[in-house]
Parts: sequence; C-alpha cells; structure tokens
Amino acid sequence: MNLKTSKVAPAADADPSAADHTAGAAAFELPKLPYATAALAPVISERTVSIHYTKHQKGYVDKLNALVAGTPLADLPLETLVAKCAGKPELVQIFNNAAQAWNHAFYWQSLSPAGGGSPPASLQSRLQESFGESDAFEKQLIASATKHFGSGWAWLVKDGTHLRILTTANAENPLTKGMTPLLTIDLWEHAYYLDYQNRREDHLKELLAKRINWAFAIDNLDKAP
Ligand code: FE
Repeated sequence: MNLKTSKVAPAADADPSAADHTAGAAAFELPKLPYATAALAPVISERTVSIHYTKHQKGYVDKLNALVAGTPLADLPLETLVAKCAGKPELVQIFNNAAQAWNHAFYWQSLSPAGGGSPPASLQSRLQESFGESDAFEKQLIASATKHFGSGWAWLVKDGTHLRILTTANAENPLTKGMTPLLTIDLWEHAYYLDYQNRREDHLKELLAKRINWAFAIDNLDKAP
C-alpha cells in the first residue's frame, strides 16, 4: 500500500556522502489529509478532525522523528520500521509512535466524505463469504469495536484467503501479524469524544453508515498478496 507517510526524498543535487542524521532533520513527514478538515462533518466535526490531525497525529510523527534522529532507523521506510520494532521492549517507544503514524495515515484514507452506504457488489460478495448475509460485517465490526476495552483500533483485514475483523490495543496493527489491513477505525477517545462523549457505538454506527471508504478497501484488497 502506498501511503504518503514516507521518507522525505533527498534533493536531486544532494551529496550522498553527507547523509543527514542530525537532530531535527525531518525523516518522516505528516501526510496531507485526503480532504478538508470539515469534510467529514457532521459525522466527525471539523474541530475533532483538526485536533486529531494537527495535535495527535502530528505529535506521533514529531516524536518519532525525535526518537530516531541520528540513528540508522531514520533511514527505514515507515512500514519496515514498524515491523522491525514490534515486540521489542527496548524499542517500544519508537514502535508506538511509528505505528501510530502509520495507523493514522491509513485511518484518514479509510474514511471519505462520500463514504458509507452499502459496499459495492464486488466487496459485498467477499464480505458475505466471510461474515454472512447482508450487513453482518457492519454489525460484527460495530460489536467488536464497541466492546474493545480501552484505546486501540478496529480493522478489516485479509488473513490468508479470508477477510477478518480484528481489534488491536493502543498502537498495535495487523502489519506485525502477517495480515493485510483493508480498513481501520480509530477507537481512541480523541477520535470521537468531543462529538459523541462516551457513546462509542453511536459514533461507529454513523461512520459505517455514512463515511466508511469502501473504495479504499477494494483498492487494498486488489493489491493484497
Ligand atoms: Fe487517533
């Protein structure tokens, strides 16, 4: 999957012998939002999107850059860095910030101002094979995401030949479990608290009905190994 969160490419005329590992060098960038901050309203308010993007997501990217500055980890693609740091207690802080940087970039693409409704037929048939008739996927995703305890993420993934629903705690993601993410929903309270307070289930129902980006899932499924 081609995410915009990536290494900043060196300038064409850069001296390759002068690799910049100095503190403050921007190794990873905050990808642009794929739509305006008001575009998901009223399902997610402009204020929530703005704070989420400019404070939380930017915070993870900035912290990641500070943590890896001056180390060989700063040269890795973000997905490689996430995989390399997973499960290593001594790298947990880098893992948390790298995975959150990746998860948020994937999350914004999982939503669309024109999203929601029924999945297109090609995806609907795949969802029905794995989850059952009609809107069984949506119901199971909402149930799993609602009962997930604490902060984390809800995912639609391709696991082998099947589609699965998965929830992960904190910064964890399916990249470290050999699965291909197709969609995600942020379950951290910062994603919905201003708009829905403790009503996570109401937030999820609105997202699935009106903003989930089925086209992004189909695109990821088409590219999946
Ligand atoms: Fe978040």
